[in-house]
Amino acid sequence: MPEKPQFRAIKGTRDILPPDTALWNWFEHTAREIFESYNFREIRLPIFEQTDLFARSVGSDTDIVSKEMFTFRLPDGSERLATEGASSSQTGEQVSLRPEATASTMRAYIEHNLQALPGNVKLYCIGPMFRRERPQKGRYRQFYQLNAEILGQSDAPAIDAEVLEMLVVFFKHVGLTRTTLYLNSIGDKNCRPQYVELLRQELLKVKDQLGPDSQRRIETNPLRVLDSKLSQEQEIIAKLPRISDHLCAGCREHFARLKDELKLRGIVYEENWRLVRGLDYYTRTTFEVIAEGLGSQNAVCGGGRYDGLVELLGGPPTKGIGFAIGSDRAILSIQESGNLPVLPGLDVFVAWMGEPTYAAALAIARKLRESGVSVELPGEEMKFKKSLNLADKLGARYALIIGSDEVASCTFTLKRLADADQRKLSEYELLEYLESEKRGTRG
Ligand code: AMP
Repeated sequence: MPEKPQFRAIKGTRDILPPDTALWNWFEHTAREIFESYNFREIRLPIFEQTDLFARSVGSDTDIVSKEMFTFRLPDGSERLATEGASSSQTGEQVSLRPEATASTMRAYIEHNLQALPGNVKLYCIGPMFRRERPQKGRYRQFYQLNAEILGQSDAPAIDAEVLEMLVVFFKHVGLTRTTLYLNSIGDKNCRPQYVELLRQELLKVKDQLGPDSQRRIETNPLRVLDSKLSQEQEIIAKLPRISDHLCAGCREHFARLKDELKLRGIVYEENWRLVRGLDYYTRTTFEVIAEGLGSQNAVCGGGRYDGLVELLGGPPTKGIGFAIGSDRAILSIQESGNLPVLPGLDVFVAWMGEPTYAAALAIARKLRESGVSVELPGEEMKFKKSLNLADKLGARYALIIGSDEVASCTFTLKRLADADQRKLSEYELLEYLESEKRGTRG
């Protein structure tokens, strides 16, 4: 039995190891390609920001801000760094590891005056987020998101529809097909306050029948009661007034036009009046994508419109909409569906035998690598059988055999490990063969 390791990854964090990393890279690469085909460009953001940025945008009453952020103080100028023996700072600036990316994107938009750019500003960002949630399958304390945001002066429903189209196209490309897109409009500052008040009054009437979380939310955020999964509350919630009956004319029209746009683009969705989302900044359009087979943590994407958020953070009046895809869960769902892409692996294991063949092995390994073939070249001589055994275990597709015969005749023996097909090739033929074969298998 191996000894228990002295150090382990912190609870809620995990290592993503090969070969899974190949799947992750393919997933993120596909996102980049699709997002850029919709003219989104990448923004890279810091991992930590002032705590107040998140408190103001996400909302200080939300679960994320009130209990899930990793917050610490930066040492100020007068303090020595922790490595120099100082304890953690008491007076420095308070910062938090980012729990989501929209707030940082807004901060960057304002800080770099991106509203001066022509047209809509379309940004995407890929990276880790941090929330102190109870870890379980599909829920981590360090998890990864793909975020996309459109900012500008227009709130045309076509923009919302384009964002949703891009999402659906991406999910199709990565083989995430057993999904449902849920859609709602939660109104804006003209109509939502009245609806929230009406909801509060109705909830007060049934307060005794609600669980402690919902009772508390009657005061702090009645909309969040609609999120409740408690079975005893479902019948009560079903009878509550629905936002769709209380939207102002502007919001009603926006939602109706969005649905027309989605129809035009052939995007299938389900309306869900209870989809309110946990973050304060949403207005009008909200959406979520649920994937089958993930158990209770089955949301793979959430998003919506957040007109006014830039202004709330001290920037100019700006409309905005965006989404966050949870990569961990999306990839888990792809893995569970078994619908996996063919990913690059080891192409050639060089089985060289006898010191005099080593120089030829080195030279051909370099040439193959230069032409994009993945090559494993053992640094020490191995017995032929052992060599082929290892090639097999490493998942190599070919063994390239170089013995004294091959060196004498300036050829190579290429053995396909799947079916033991074996051929003798000149260097030119070998390069040609592997390149064309690779084009065929990897598109
Ligand atoms: P949210 O910002 O909460 O709307 O989250 C957007 C997406 O990120 C969700 O639909 C999840 O797929 C993913 N996500 C959120 N929190 C976690 C977490 N703790 N672990 C893994 N994925 C998460």
